[in-house]
Amino acid sequence: ESSKAQQLIALHEKASEVYHHMLVHTTAGQEALDYLLKRGLTEELIEEFQIGFAPNQRAFLERIFQNESLDAKYFAESGLFVERDDGLADRFYQRIMFPIRNFQGKTIGFSGRWLQTEAFPGENQPKYLNSPETSLFNKREVLFNFDKARSTIRKEGSVFLFEGFMDVLAAWQSGIQNGIASMGTSLTNQQIAAIERVSKELILCYDGDNAGIEATNRGIELLQEHSHLNLTIVSVPERLDPDEYVRKYGSEAFYELAYHGRETVFSFKMNYRKQHRNLANEKEQLEYVQELLQDLLQVDSLLEQDRYLTQLSTEFQISRETLQQQLRQFKQARRN
Ligand code: ATP
Ligand code: MN
Ligand code: MN
Ligand code: MN
Repeated sequence: ESSKAQQLIALHEKASEVYHHMLVHTTAGQEALDYLLKRGLTEELIEEFQIGFAPNQRAFLERIFQNESLDAKYFAESGLFVERDDGLADRFYQRIMFPIRNFQGKTIGFSGRWLQTEAFPGENQPKYLNSPETSLFNKREVLFNFDKARSTIRKEGSVFLFEGFMDVLAAWQSGIQNGIASMGTSLTNQQIAAIERVSKELILCYDGDNAGIEATNRGIELLQEHSHLNLTIVSVPERLDPDEYVRKYGSEAFYELAYHGRETVFSFKMNYRKQHRNLANEKEQLEYVQELLQDLLQVDSLLEQDRYLTQLSTEFQISRETLQQQLRQFKQARRN
């Protein structure tokens, strides 16, 4: 069984090496390389993360594997191919390839981003394609970049959670090397447990678009329910995602935002709930305040609680005593 795991890893390491070679050293990879450089990735970063390119051929990888006389026994279950009536075909083609490594740093899967060109517009192609579940690759377990980020996470005592791989890479280039991402899904308990083993603090830094804001709200609820992590939020302005923000305003500006632009969970909730309410309406105003008082129950720090009570009191012309009383009532209702 362990030799099977070793062989599956060997296939992935070989594939990773070949895809990387295609990107960096061949004309077939030129457009992809130009695309990445134009997006602001450096050659060092491409090297560090072994980013690659799977050319637009369906019988590319198998031929390479055969030339390397790799044992064909596990080709089918590696996830690198799709099975067809007439044999195996490459799963990944015309895609920029991000190797996905396990916590030990071994490549166990890929995520491939479709490279749109004039010759290959790929209208019906998903933007990202992940490896399927295999005996080694479990989407619910893996965290992109956790292996490389771990030492910095430990040192800083904190971890940044991003939505996308490109965001992790842009942050890395900006000097933030404790960034990770899930595989486009919400965090599982297994992933949370892995994070909690190395960090007390998690900074949510999702995309600034609506989808990202909704995902942040869900992420907060999930993490408050299933972890003891200290949460803070970085809201990226102008609906940008972290990668776009770095390209538009530069690494230093992003670093600044990431370290000095953090919000508390409650402050995020205030803005979030505001967007879903019409505060010109009196009834909605009261509902808004009630929801926020419920949120305030989750705030452990008394100082923080006190400050937000004052803020709500001033903003909505409700006495602090009333707010406090209501808060106490909610607390009791929750206990019962
Ligand atoms: P890019 O900047 O290259 O367009 P992105 O990271 O900004 O990529 P998003 O659309 O914001 O892409 O998606 C965030 C993450 O969600 C991706 O990194 C990927 O993990 C996942 N994802 C996006 N689209 C898909 C898809 N079609 N299938 C599976 N996962 C996806
Ligand atoms: Mn998005
Ligand atoms: Mn994005
Ligand atoms: Mn992006």
